[in-house]
Amino acid sequence: MSKYSTEELLALDKQYVWHPYSSTVNAADVFPVVSASGVRLTLSDGTELIDGMSSWWSAIHGYNHPILNAAIYRQTEAMSHVMFGGLTHPPAVELCQLLTSLAPPGLTKVFLSDSGSVSVEVAIKMAIQYWFSLGRPEKNRLLTIRNGYHGDTFGAMSVCDPVTGMHEIFRGILPTHLFAPSPTSRFGEPWDESDIAIFHQLVDKHHQEIAAVILEPVVQGTGGMNFYAPEYLKRVKSLCEEYDVLLICDEIATGFGRSGKLFACEYADISPDILCLGKALTGGYMTLAATLCNDRVSKGIGGGKVSTFMHGPTFMANPLACSVALASIKLLLSTPWQRKIADIETILRQQLNPCRALAGVHDVRVLGAIGVIELTQPVDMHTIPREFVNRGVWVRPFGKLVYIMPPYIISPADLITLSNALCEIVQIANK
Ligand SMILES: *Cc1c(COP(=O)(O)O)cnc(C)c1O
Repeated sequence: MSKYSTEELLALDKQYVWHPYSSTVNAADVFPVVSASGVRLTLSDGTELIDGMSSWWSAIHGYNHPILNAAIYRQTEAMSHVMFGGLTHPPAVELCQLLTSLAPPGLTKVFLSDSGSVSVEVAIKMAIQYWFSLGRPEKNRLLTIRNGYHGDTFGAMSVCDPVTGMHEIFRGILPTHLFAPSPTSRFGEPWDESDIAIFHQLVDKHHQEIAAVILEPVVQGTGGMNFYAPEYLKRVKSLCEEYDVLLICDEIATGFGRSGKLFACEYADISPDILCLGKALTGGYMTLAATLCNDRVSKGIGGGKVSTFMHGPTFMANPLACSVALASIKLLLSTPWQRKIADIETILRQQLNPCRALAGVHDVRVLGAIGVIELTQPVDMHTIPREFVNRGVWVRPFGKLVYIMPPYIISPADLITLSNALCEIVQIANK
């Protein structure tokens, strides 16, 4: 129990706390949550909300899961943290071994870090140091696609969509990379050969200065919630090979089943040179991320004139985080997750597709355990979140995108309640 009443807590929050992607001057409401269990968040007044966000893609098994709780308790009794420089421990070793065995083929080394953005920084540094080590320091730029999201730190931000990533604020200090248009061939629809043309022109023109291509495979997350044709990813992979450019796949949002495959790369049957994982890695319990690479990258860097990789977060390989990640992955693999996600996908299609006909709805998209309604106008974040709360669900829209990616354990009845709320809100949002 807090020593403050809810009113006091919210007043103090307004006074002292800066929330993600928010203004302290024109702050929107926040809701006081006191506990979470299964797919429900409980607010201080006792209101229960069905969670449609999995706490930003991460809580795939829901909240307060006995197996994940036990993994953390057990690990606290052994050690909560030790530095990783010069020391190692079973949770880290077992996790890295498990990740390489599950990831697309060829990814053999794992660098652990503490957040998705940092794992992207690590991936970018690896790619640039790789070419430095091979005596090609001029290969230090990145090529990516529009509508991407890779995190909020400087390197990661520099490859986010320039518009939604607000590059204008940081012009001059943000590295300028190369952007191809976002693919227009949709997942499950016919492939349009012209889709890859500009990307092809950019690699052709700039490959001498490009270290790597970085993109989110098949599912572009927060930057646009687009599901694109796996053929695009196949073409990117073969162009990377043809022009001798590394490929970095950012599966921080898609990893661990969300798209219907364990990793979205599997839709295109490709392996990147470098892979970023995070979010669902610990089942949403702790912050942890991983950058995996193949032998080409690790041996290339190791054989260079600076053979060490100069990165090492203080909390690298935190034992609590590694233990709960191991428990979460094993739990996922022990469940019929493919079937669960296919069932979620079926219900989302049934429930959300009719919204296409509503005024103000631009598009409806569903893939795996992700449902998206794209509106023609941005949502008013001062009013709409409360409308969701009033309907007993937790959904956080972004711009024109109203989307859900619930915990995989959600029941059909809860999923229908959640989807219905989405369809209702979409109608209010356009009034
Ligand atoms: C969330 C996300 C990141 C950033 O991860 P953080 O843990 O928030 O730093 C990077 N890439 C993708 C695709 C993401 O969805």
